[in-house]
Amino acid sequence: MISPSTHASHQTPVPEAHGLVDAFGRVHTDLRVSVTDRCNIRCRYCMPLDVTFKPREELLSYAEITRVVSVAAGLGVRSVRLTGGEPLVRRDLQKLVRDLRQIKGIDEVALTTNGLLLGQQARQLAEAGLSRINVSLDSLREETFREIARSDGLAQVLAGLAEAKRVGLQQIRLNAVSIRGLSEADVVPLARFARQEGFHLRFIEFMPLDADRQWSQLHVLSGREVRGMLEEAFGPLKPVAGHDGGQPAADYRYTDGATDAAVSLVGFIDPVTQPFCERCDRLRLTADGQFRNCLFSTEEWDVRHLLRTGGDDAAIVSLIRACVAQKRAAHGIGTPTFERPERAMYQIGG
Ligand code: SAM
Ligand code: SF4
Repeated sequence: MISPSTHASHQTPVPEAHGLVDAFGRVHTDLRVSVTDRCNIRCRYCMPLDVTFKPREELLSYAEITRVVSVAAGLGVRSVRLTGGEPLVRRDLQKLVRDLRQIKGIDEVALTTNGLLLGQQARQLAEAGLSRINVSLDSLREETFREIARSDGLAQVLAGLAEAKRVGLQQIRLNAVSIRGLSEADVVPLARFARQEGFHLRFIEFMPLDADRQWSQLHVLSGREVRGMLEEAFGPLKPVAGHDGGQPAADYRYTDGATDAAVSLVGFIDPVTQPFCERCDRLRLTADGQFRNCLFSTEEWDVRHLLRTGGDDAAIVSLIRACVAQKRAAHGIGTPTFERPERAMYQIGG
């Protein structure tokens, strides 16, 4: 494993970093790093049932990821979120967490997981210094879970969540994708569960990134509609002032006094009906070493090639800057010019 302090041989002096500011003034401080395209389930809004994964040698090694994140940190990236595919299927993920935590400038290393392997790995991830964790959970009903994930596993996810809580992982958040005709019956039970457990819950609108290409606007159950269902069950929700900063989600508190209002937030990520592109501070690195400036980017910048052909840090800096410079104002879902990226969610990293 190359630690940030031991790859000096690659380094040529990099000019004093200026932030990663794009043509629209957006400053990029958040990097989503996918560590694999593999997964232990097959959510229908993400992966195909019959899938061919990238050969392992095409994926960046942990040493390569650490090197790229070190360079990005020099350019103002402050938080890293590990994702996939399912990040916990990649061996020894805690080692990567530990190495990333040691990079000067990186304040936070977070994880998005389906939770299936959390029961086994929560403790070592916490010990490695994982800052936050998002666990995807769309339904508390076994049958619906199976229908979405095309696999069993609800009990395992719930056990993983319990273990994450037990080992003291902070800021556990549940992510639920809402799909019209499928998710309505889960909205209130998920909220009840999150309130009871003290988890922050976020509903995410279904985006056109499913490998099966079944997405249509008609399948989007909007954040506004979900909020309406919650208000009917729990009373008015109050927006959390100033909570959305660079965050895509609008967070709300319950006002019925039944929960600890400080922890039981509920949020809505509405990329389809309420795009937050003007506040987007994210960059993405795919598992096979491609930089992207948007989930819906149709262009990629190949850092793996640079890494494997002796590129120095200055070359990586130029590549990241070029990627940022060409970020579009908005993804344009729903507009006539919208173009779906070729890759699906599991190949990009959500
Ligand atoms: N396997 C991990 C997981 O499921 O949490 C991490 C990767 S997954 C691609 C990241 C997030 O993207 C998950 O919360 C998942 O629900 C969400 N997601 C996947 N496909 C989506 C889609 N088409 N629209 C909206 N969210 C999606
Ligand atoms: Fe796997 Fe996550 Fe995609 Fe579901 S959403 S198939 S858990 S990568």
